[in-house]
Order: sequence, then structure tokens, then C-alpha cells
Amino acid sequence: MLDYTFRMTNIPASYGLGTHAVHVGEGEDALQAHIAPIYQTSTFTVDDPHDYAAMASGDRPGYTYTRFNNPTVAHAERKLAALEGLGLRRQGVEVAAKIFASGMAAIGNAVLARAHAGDHVVLQDQLYGSSHGFFHELMPDFGITFSHFDPHKPGALEGELEAHPNTKLVYVETPANPTLKIVDLAEIAEIAHARGAWVIADNTFATPFCQRPLELGVDVVVQSTTKYLSGHGVIISGAVISAHTDYIKRDIGKIVRFAGPSPSPFDCWLLNLGLKTFEVRMERHCANALVVARHLAPHPKVERVLYPGLETHLFHDVAARQMPGGFGGMLSFELRGGMEAGIALMRHMRLPALAVSLGNVDSMIQHPASMTHRGVPREDRLRLGISDGLVRFSVGIENVEDILDDLDQALKA
Ligand SMILES: *Cc1c(COP(=O)(O)O)cnc(C)c1O
Repeated sequence: MLDYTFRMTNIPASYGLGTHAVHVGEGEDALQAHIAPIYQTSTFTVDDPHDYAAMASGDRPGYTYTRFNNPTVAHAERKLAALEGLGLRRQGVEVAAKIFASGMAAIGNAVLARAHAGDHVVLQDQLYGSSHGFFHELMPDFGITFSHFDPHKPGALEGELEAHPNTKLVYVETPANPTLKIVDLAEIAEIAHARGAWVIADNTFATPFCQRPLELGVDVVVQSTTKYLSGHGVIISGAVISAHTDYIKRDIGKIVRFAGPSPSPFDCWLLNLGLKTFEVRMERHCANALVVARHLAPHPKVERVLYPGLETHLFHDVAARQMPGGFGGMLSFELRGGMEAGIALMRHMRLPALAVSLGNVDSMIQHPASMTHRGVPREDRLRLGISDGLVRFSVGIENVEDILDDLDQALKA
């Protein structure tokens, strides 16, 4: 079979995340290139028809066609599996990853590889906008039904699982976009497993630097590698990572082969390059975000700051337990001045990019009520905790005094 599996040859499992991010898969090139080269090719040649047959059937390792697999893609997959599966690997558990052409391709196909017509999926009430779109607009066309649960209501998930015995999956995101809502992953996994359902967690905001859901019992992690993992805002890609290696190799592998949501080798090469600095970038993102959160919390123009690293966050204790690496680089805050104040702040900030997306080295800011969520009816938006004055801030790795300086001048204006 195609080799999607993380098979570390020479880095001890006890070594740290940063060492894995730098070294996994490097130094394996046939020509001994120092940095893993890019195999920007659609197909691969063989000397004999039997060679192709042996590789295509999986009897022999090798590459036949880039839609199926490619050395540059496989390299980045091994690195992602190493990071997300670090703790499991230390227990001798194998973790595998598959990269897709976008985070949404990873999310949609992770679901469709597990849930089929007649099955049910239980969703966390608050999800990234396009994930919400996939579950509401697309998944029903495949004959899969869904319902929602509020992870903060005791018994809510049990109730949904009871009402829908055909539940195949529970889908969660923590911290959730854009309110930084925290879900207790270990608790969700225990409840879901008791009913035979798997849990998929979107780990895009936290990244494996802050939290590793597979170690907490989550079955499948999905990532938008467009964000922190690549880190420089130059690619769109996503990944599915799991210790259910049959699921990755057989079920996800079938989708990749026959539906073809495959990534470009060039994007995977850039992803791999970005991953080399992943740990140091995340250290800075987390440190800067905490300083910004603490600075904004007492500000007279700010109603409240939503950041799991603040003791005032509703689920700080859960976050502190399941995010040992840090609380991430994403925060939101509510301006007292509502819609007008939100729009004004967007116009006066100088340092951050006014743009959707997140997790890049530079700070990025957006105002959901006037931008990403302007089409959502106001009552629905408020019910989800997205108030008129809510601002989402992806704190970059700039010098933090400069970020504070810019925030102060924009809040004054
Ligand atoms: C960006 C994002 C996605 C979608 O990823 P794309 O690479 O844009 O397809 C999914 N989930 C979260 C939390 C995201 O931030």
C-alpha cells in the first residue's frame, strides 16, 4: 500500500516537538540533498510494466502518479503525523496523516470517509463558517443527517447520542472560531466511545504545539495547514491525522485516489519549509497573545476579552488541562461601542492585515459582524456569542510592544 505512515528511522521518540518539526523526513533523498527537495512532477516512470503493477498494488514501495502520492507530499505527511502524534508515538502507537488541497477538503473527506448514507453526525453548536456550511449545505446531499449539541450543557451530547443511535461521528472544534469556546476533548471522547461513535476534532486554532487531541482519545484530527502549520500565508492545504491507520490508508486513501482532492507538491514543499520554524513561531504567538489579552482586558473601551489563557475565561481550567503547550495566538475581544466601534477599529489599525484567515507570522484582524458573519441574522449571530463589537485578532510574531502601541492608538481614535 501507499506509505502514508510515519516511520521515523533515526529521531528518538523522546525528542521534542521542535526537533521533530525540523528533522522528520530530512536526509532521506537519494541524492542526499540537505533540504528535502521538491518532486514537482505529475507522474513517475518505470523500467518494466511489472514494476508499475507492483507499486500500484502496494506490493512494492514507490510512486506512480502524484494524485495518489508524491515524495514531497509524503514527506510533509510524515512530519504532520509526527507532530500531532508525538505522545502516541512515545507509547509505540502508529499515527498516519494525509494532506489535502485545502482544510475544507480535509474536513469534508474526513467525515465522508467515516459516515455514509443513513448515518448521523452530532456537531458542536459553534464551528468555523465553512465547516458549518459543509454540514448544513453539502452533507445532507449524501444522505447523512446531523444535529447540534452545546458542549457546555451537561448531558447534551448524551441526549443527542441517545436520540440518534445511528451516530457515527461527533465533530468538535476547540478553541472554536471566533469566540474561542473551549470543549473538553477527553470528556467528549469518553461519551462518544461509550456509544460507538468516533470524534473528529478541528485542531487548527490550537495546533499540536498547544494541544494534541489524539492523546486525549480523539479519533481523528483535522487541520487547516493553511494557518499556523505553514505559517506564512502562501498556501491553501489541510490534513487528516489519525492513529486509525486503516482509516487513513484504506478509507481516506480511496477518496484521495478516486475523488482526487490531492495537494500540489509545491504547496507541500512550502508547508514543510514552514514547519521547520513551527515551534519557535508558536512560542512567540502564544506569548504575544497572552500579553495582548492582559493589556486589553482592563481597557476602558473593551467590554471583555475572550482568550483561554485568561483566568477569567469561562473554561480556563479545561483549557489549562488540555492545552499544556500554551493557549494559542488567537483571541477575540468585544468593544463597548458595538458595530461602529468595530468598523472604526478596523480602519485605524496599522500593523495587522485587515483580512480573513489567521495563523500567519504577521498579525491579522477582522470584525465578524461587518465581515465574515454579516450574512448571519443578528439574533442567530448574538446567540452564537458574536456580538456587534466582537473583533477577532490573530496575534502575529511582531515585537509585542508594537502591537500594543498600534492597538492603543487605534482604540483612542
Ligand atoms: C481556515 C480554517 C478551516 C478551513 O481551512 P482552508 O484551508 O481555508 O480550507 C477550517 N477550520 C478552521 C478552524 C479554520 O480556521
